[in-house]
Amino acid sequence: MRKYSIFAVAREAMRYHAGWEKAWRSPEPKRKYKVIVIGAGGHGLATAYYLGKVHGIKDVAIIEKGWLGGGNTGRNTTIIRSNYLQDPSAGIFDKALQLYEGLSQDLNYNIMFSPRGLLMLAQSEHEMRGYKRTVYANQLQGIETKWIGREEVKSLVPILNIDGPRYPVLGALYQERGGTARHDAVAWGLARACSNMGMDIIQKCEVTGIRTENGEVRGIDTTKGAIDCEKLSIVTAGHAGTVANMAGFRLPLESVALQAWVSEPVKPCIDVVVMANLVHCYISQSDKGELVLGGGIDHPNNYSQRGSWYTIEETVRSLVETYPIISRLKMLRQWGGIVDITGDHSPILSKTPVKNIFVNCGWGTGGFKAIPGSGWAMAELIAKGEPGPLAKGFGLDRFTEGRFVDESVAAGVAH
Ligand SMILES: Cc1cc2nc3c(=O)[nH]c(=O)nc-3n(C[C@H](O)[C@H](O)[C@H](O)COP(=O)(O)OP(=O)(O)OC[C@H]3O[C@@H](n4cnc5c(N)ncnc54)[C@H](O)[C@@H]3O)c2cc1C
Repeated sequence: MRKYSIFAVAREAMRYHAGWEKAWRSPEPKRKYKVIVIGAGGHGLATAYYLGKVHGIKDVAIIEKGWLGGGNTGRNTTIIRSNYLQDPSAGIFDKALQLYEGLSQDLNYNIMFSPRGLLMLAQSEHEMRGYKRTVYANQLQGIETKWIGREEVKSLVPILNIDGPRYPVLGALYQERGGTARHDAVAWGLARACSNMGMDIIQKCEVTGIRTENGEVRGIDTTKGAIDCEKLSIVTAGHAGTVANMAGFRLPLESVALQAWVSEPVKPCIDVVVMANLVHCYISQSDKGELVLGGGIDHPNNYSQRGSWYTIEETVRSLVETYPIISRLKMLRQWGGIVDITGDHSPILSKTPVKNIFVNCGWGTGGFKAIPGSGWAMAELIAKGEPGPLAKGFGLDRFTEGRFVDESVAAGVAH
């Protein structure tokens, strides 16, 4: 694989960009791999990447029913932060943030990481107490966040209506290291690195069955034929439950649609990311000038990647009351993704009842920010057969032992 650099860009500019090679190969599947990862979203690709990079396991296939990054990884609003409440969450989300900080250099691929700062608005006394508690917890975890008053909030976000109309802004939980990254670039950069290590990314190949023998995995059936493996990782987000059913076990997950919107481009008007969890809306501005907007989940369980009118209406209402100047903005695009939510709003990185099948899911509405940390932890789990320190708290056994990692407040609106 040829290195991307300013010299490569200059060289290609001189020859009409005819010399760029494909970023990843698209091979036919082999009959057998040491490890198969189902799902070429960010978490599946990062799992494969760190399996190769950290553990030297490169006989890996990543099987994707659509196109890589076409699931939630390419549909999210790209918010990155690590200001969660519980220690296991702080561990994995901050590891992810640290890896994000150097990921462009590591992958030799510009993921457009933009640590522009992130605010979570407090709009009730209850929320204010909750966020102050998070600041104290973060201090103990060694994660830098702070509580800021409403005047500072207004100076950081001049377009914000801090007085209402429904709820005034009382202050905010602020993480200066938080921000965004280009979601497609994260998937593409990881895919390029995996392919370069000799791993096979098989797109347009749906897994239709999982073969087991004596309680141990043997392989998978796909629309491109049967493939054997020694270890299998299910990383299919909103479809984790349906894929786990193929192996004969159930997961404690609910799948629901989450929507996002992108407006027409406008001049720079907001240079931080802002989440308003009480009224359910959040906002950032892309490099092109579009406002990237989101809200809460659609409540009925479903697998439609669209979302309902009710949620659109609620989110628009919240956005307009919070940022009145955007009331006449036109929307360019709207879409939905299927997110996988657990009872404690924390992910699952775990062994399963079937030997050598591992599962990584339950990231719900907030897993983009976790991609490198999750991949790191999952690769360790697969390579060693036991969870390392990052994955330890997120086993399936927590649901039977009542040892929840409750992030229902930090997950908030959700990201
Ligand atoms: C609208 C929206 C906004 C969001 N905003 C944010 C945000 O701002 N910040 C944040 O941190 N998170 C956010 N998220 C959540 C985040 O996008 C997800 O948690 C994360 O992308 C999950 O990644 P993944 O790799 O697990 O799943 P996915 O990217 O969904 O990948 C799973 C893949 O598995 C494939 N698959 C499924 N079934 C099969 C099968 N049978 N065979 C083969 N392949 C299969 C799918 O096609 C898919 O490509 C948002 C999500 C949505 C929908």
